[in-house]
Amino acid sequence: MNTFSVLFITILGLVTGTQLWLTNRQHKRVCDHRDEVPSAFSDKIPLDAHQKAADYTLAKIRFERTDIIFSAVIVLCWTFGSGLEVLDTVWRKLEWSPVATGIGVMLSVFYISNLVDLPLSIYRTFVLEQRFGFNHTTPVTFIKDLLIQSLIAFIIGFPLVWLVLWLMQQSGQMWWMYVWMVWMGFSILMMWAYPAVISPLFNKFAPLDDSALRSRIENLLARTGFKSNGIFVMDGSRRSGHGNAYFTGLGTNKRIVFFDTLVNSLTPGEIEAVLAHELGHFKCHHIHKRIGSMATLSLIGLALLGWLINQSWFYAGLGISHPSDYTALLLFMLTMPVFGFFISPFMLYVTRKHEFEADNYAAKQADAKELIQALVKLYKENAATLTPDPIYSAFHDSHPPAPIRVAHLGSKL
Ligand SMILES: [Zn+2]
Repeated sequence: MNTFSVLFITILGLVTGTQLWLTNRQHKRVCDHRDEVPSAFSDKIPLDAHQKAADYTLAKIRFERTDIIFSAVIVLCWTFGSGLEVLDTVWRKLEWSPVATGIGVMLSVFYISNLVDLPLSIYRTFVLEQRFGFNHTTPVTFIKDLLIQSLIAFIIGFPLVWLVLWLMQQSGQMWWMYVWMVWMGFSILMMWAYPAVISPLFNKFAPLDDSALRSRIENLLARTGFKSNGIFVMDGSRRSGHGNAYFTGLGTNKRIVFFDTLVNSLTPGEIEAVLAHELGHFKCHHIHKRIGSMATLSLIGLALLGWLINQSWFYAGLGISHPSDYTALLLFMLTMPVFGFFISPFMLYVTRKHEFEADNYAAKQADAKELIQALVKLYKENAATLTPDPIYSAFHDSHPPAPIRVAHLGSKL
């Protein structure tokens, strides 16, 4: 234990306390508004749907509290509980090269972390989601998904970790600059390849080819000049009753994906409005901006690690007696989310701003009223709360809360 240990434990305690305080605020707010549908939605959402959304939100809050405490305990186990130290000692006994030992330790940490998280993930899917009728996943699909994810993590993780550790060892003091280049190249490659290569391993994607819709959509695409690999419907209902639409990919692989649950419940006019919103993300260059901020943050992070890696207090303060490139990397990955908690509201503020921009675009290219109707259906079917706590929302929501978003679109009518 040193000064850094005390600092880290203090910040971890502060972050965990803040997270729990936020869940209390959200819990109170949702409870207080459970008995009445907010006036802006009173003609659109019946009381029983509003109460189901409140109960679902409260159940998720209780789960989140467990998750917050669990995550803090896990970080403490890896560091002060000697988890990482023990694992490192076991792998070093094999007397492999530093890079090979590093790959072994890093992949072990990844798989152990996932295994430890498994009970929570099972509870979320088969108890929480099940209770509110959202779970469509069978245990067989759940296990199959886990096996495929583990295999992909190995196929991608092994060469990536090898390259990163090799660069750290071979490229001198400026290693973090080279690792940053590799990381950015890898991230951009994944963004490009993910929708075409990895997503189809989990879901089926069919072109959206409803004839009643087709002319509306082709019209919209023609007037917005959008060129893509297409608009797809994904069989999301195989795993969950939640519906959504999202944009993904880069360059020629960019596409817009609708969950089948969403397509089935929206009218053609509403689908057109949702599509216009997703096109808005492309037109306002949100993907490029996202890559830009990711590049900046990862460069700052790696530069910081470039300095930390030479500080003995960094290892000693977090329970590591034998400093190495891979333990520095692992300690950094374990502790950064704790420090990063305080920048998350700023990042989420930007993503919420992007949602408003995409909504503005949709209001121009399609009908804002149709988008409001589509969103209300989405809130209702996903049992999303209409009465979130503003501060909780600032720390959690990538999308503007329901009342604010609908009011914003209403001002465009
Ligand atoms: Zn959006």
